[in-house]
Amino acid sequence: MRIYDVSLTVDQNLPVWPGDPPFQRVRLSKIEEGANANVSQITMGVHTGTHVDAPFHFLPDGTTVEAMPLDVLVGPALVVQLPEEVDVVNDHALAQANIPKGATRLLLKTRSSEFWSRKPLKFETDFVGIDASGADYLVERGVELIGIDYLSIAPYKHSRPTHEKLLGARMVIIEGLDLREAQPGQYMLYCLPVKLGGSDGAPARVILIQE
Ligand SMILES: [Zn+2]
Repeated sequence: MRIYDVSLTVDQNLPVWPGDPPFQRVRLSKIEEGANANVSQITMGVHTGTHVDAPFHFLPDGTTVEAMPLDVLVGPALVVQLPEEVDVVNDHALAQANIPKGATRLLLKTRSSEFWSRKPLKFETDFVGIDASGADYLVERGVELIGIDYLSIAPYKHSRPTHEKLLGARMVIIEGLDLREAQPGQYMLYCLPVKLGGSDGAPARVILIQE
């Protein structure tokens, strides 16, 4: 059995969405200054690093993070490698990927994975996202969970149609996966977002297990 940690490390080096608050961690009490324990405070947006989107992120009446279904967040998942030349995940690109019927959890590994190897990390705008036709394709196929290897499931500056379609179909969205180590194929997925009440998103620890 091998465990793949496909979560990003959340620290001040992590790029965040333009306009979102930067991650900050401040140690409020310090043992070396006489405190009984080290205690930190963090400031971050809920869409920081590896995270889930709840329907409320784009739908005014949508459900929030604590209601996300654990039986979708955990289960068999397929890592799908899309070719280097795919810049936008449209219906054509998904049809070409030969996704087996009945695959309900898909994690898309794209050329964006390589961004996580760049140092220092910075926010990249030319990441690969799913367009409206790709979203329709996934909804029609009955996909229940979709993940991607950069900070949005939709192309930069085209967030709404894709998110609306996917979240409107109650699909779970995982963004900011680090799939560099995970080869295409079948895994057991465990995605456990922090149970934030009333929230439109939440950071998650996501692992893949290959048996
Ligand atoms: Zn998000």
